[in-house]
Amino acid sequence: MPKPLTFESWLQPEASGLFCLPGKFHIDPHRPVPRAVITHGHSDHARPGHGAVLATPETIAIMQTRLGPECAGSFQALALGERVGIGGVAVRLLPAGHMLGSAQVVMEYAGARAVASGDYKRRADPTTRPFELERCHLFITEATFGLPVFQHEPDTREIGRLLASVHANTDRTHLIGAYSLGKAQRLIALLRRAGYSRPIWLHGAMRSTCELYARLGVDLGDLPLVSNADGKLPGEIVLCPPSALKDRWSRRLTDPVMAFASGWMRVRARAHQHGVELPLVVSDHADWPELVSTIAETEAEEVWVTHGREDALVHQIGLMGKRGRALALVGFEEEGE
Ligand SMILES: [Zn+2]
Ligand SMILES: [Zn+2]
Repeated sequence: MPKPLTFESWLQPEASGLFCLPGKFHIDPHRPVPRAVITHGHSDHARPGHGAVLATPETIAIMQTRLGPECAGSFQALALGERVGIGGVAVRLLPAGHMLGSAQVVMEYAGARAVASGDYKRRADPTTRPFELERCHLFITEATFGLPVFQHEPDTREIGRLLASVHANTDRTHLIGAYSLGKAQRLIALLRRAGYSRPIWLHGAMRSTCELYARLGVDLGDLPLVSNADGKLPGEIVLCPPSALKDRWSRRLTDPVMAFASGWMRVRARAHQHGVELPLVVSDHADWPELVSTIAETEAEEVWVTHGREDALVHQIGLMGKRGRALALVGFEEEGE
């Protein structure tokens, strides 16, 4: 009987990212490589300069919009659920539920199945397809919120708090800081779903990503630009990048209620640090209970942890009777989450 291959013999964590040896491709590399599989369009995953890129059609559209049509030598679109063979490795992309176009990478080689999650969440999100669980031998998980203290509120509760504040403060503008790709569009979609049909005003930096979502079929309603407003928008909702919360830009609004939509708003000091009056715990990453239950559901015997707080989750994986390993890949950021 031949000894089964170790995962390390065909999947190698390198400084530039996870490398699939027989397929000769990297996943979300942070340096230019000949062949890259990209899980989603956030800037710490989708970087310019690769020779060839394989990704979902939505992720390719996002990359070409943000980084330019020539940001890679060539693009190959792979629809969610479709299979392609790369150097003897069967590769599929499955929905990750993180943002529009986001995917997990399923790799099958020599009788073993490995799944690289990319960023993911398990909760419903009107702007993206829900996470699809795939049983596997090796699961490579993100750990952005990999501490037990991180338990995100239901988004309906957070949207309810926001709308209650809007109704109670008709003489003030509600200014919400939100990451401009993914989070902003989800927030708008959640507001629409909650019945909010008024225009939602945008900082200019939000415009191109919202237009892109609309072009890709996500209807977000009326989204005028603040720069086109006549007055100072009392009683209205305005979205801006988190960095604009504190700058002079917000002075054009009426006594704004500063809000910030982020998983980090669970940490009071963070809200304080950003001068946030109304913290909204809305996250596009799995919280601790979702990380632990997802790991259990994959039935993986081995779990590699990347992209965040790795130690606590690796310890938890050991308690679950599985082999855990912290990858400590470099180059990932907090994404303004
Ligand atoms: Zn992301
Ligand atoms: Zn990320």
